[in-house]
Amino acid sequence: MSPGRALARRLFRALAEHTADPPGVTRVAYGLGEQVAHDLVAEAAQAFGAEKRIDAAGNQFLVLAGEDRSRVILVGSHLDSVLHGGDYDGVAGVLMGLALQADLAAQGRMPPCDLAVTCLRAEESCWFPDSYIGSKTALGLLDPDVLDGVRRSDDGTSLAQHMERLGFDPDGVRRGKRHYEPEEIVAFIEPHIEQAPALVEAGMPVGLVTGIRGSVRYRQIAVTGAYAHSGATPRALRHDAGLAGARLITEMHALWDALEAEGRDLTVTFGEIATDPAQHGFSKVPGHLHLCLDMRSAEADTLERAEQKLRSCAAGIAEATGVTIDLGPRTDSSPTPLSPELRACFAAAAEAQGIGTLTMPSGAGHDAATFAKAGVPTAMLFIRNRNGSHNPDEAMDDADFDAALAVLETALDDPSLTARRGAEAA
Ligand SMILES: [Zn+2]
Repeated sequence: MSPGRALARRLFRALAEHTADPPGVTRVAYGLGEQVAHDLVAEAAQAFGAEKRIDAAGNQFLVLAGEDRSRVILVGSHLDSVLHGGDYDGVAGVLMGLALQADLAAQGRMPPCDLAVTCLRAEESCWFPDSYIGSKTALGLLDPDVLDGVRRSDDGTSLAQHMERLGFDPDGVRRGKRHYEPEEIVAFIEPHIEQAPALVEAGMPVGLVTGIRGSVRYRQIAVTGAYAHSGATPRALRHDAGLAGARLITEMHALWDALEAEGRDLTVTFGEIATDPAQHGFSKVPGHLHLCLDMRSAEADTLERAEQKLRSCAAGIAEATGVTIDLGPRTDSSPTPLSPELRACFAAAAEAQGIGTLTMPSGAGHDAATFAKAGVPTAMLFIRNRNGSHNPDEAMDDADFDAALAVLETALDDPSLTARRGAEAA
């Protein structure tokens, strides 16, 4: 086994032991567990000669000097966890970067440019409810209002006060201070366990991620008909909100079928389907139904088509069933495509190594989205994992970690990985 792989095994165990909080592990962002993880990883990297750099927000870069010191490849993820999380979410990305460096160092080889293991803060962020604090601060993009406005969930301390207390530099964060300029970053590569069973189902160890899905969401769809006697009311006189809602669900799933048949990426989920317990009854036609709808896709035009269909379905069903359908407030996020060039480079590396891959979008959000949106060429490698994530039962086999690492190692030797490329993001 290579020294890097042995080191990763040792650190997976050490992190699980040092941050144990049964069941599972807890590494609260900007709390003790996250700091323990940062320190353990830094100590291991410094042992083979990597330099430790900390930015204004406490993100950590462990830098192995490369031939070209004016550019850097970042490999990493976050080291915080949810409460009682598993051993691999976030950690796998950081330890893969570390294993890559350790093997290069053991072989006495220099990477083509600086290679920095990137330990981002606060991705799960259970104390401070805001998205991607670590990657936004790393790029100098955190909205200053978040520093003072987002307060620690248990004691009300602001993020700025809390950072200050830990010895970081919230004023620097406010000014958008950053350790690397986006133009210096050749690639941000985030290896991560898959959080769904697609790779397990496909029998593939590694996923090549096309992009991070965007969403269109309606959390308060109100279907309003009329309550009526179930035995006495003739069919033609009913305004059945339950029937209307069921049709909407069925028609949106039929759309999903149709778009999937075209090779489109989409998920359609009605997560809440509820009649009103205060008014509904066994012998009543339902007069009201609450629904919420979460549609996600890696493709902006697919989301647009799904939304048009939603509106036309709702109008048609309302007409046919004599109800009103109010879709209510809408929120959305745009899909974030990742670098096709980096993905092609990883695909070629996997093929050369005989490693099976699945090309797939990420349904969940990741720090990679922040880097991609900032114009940094960005890639994600998914590692097969059983039992989902954000729970103590995350299960990644070492062999699958090794397979993803082999892809990364082979890709690093490919000159196209470090070829200077322009900003690629949306
Ligand atoms: Zn994660």
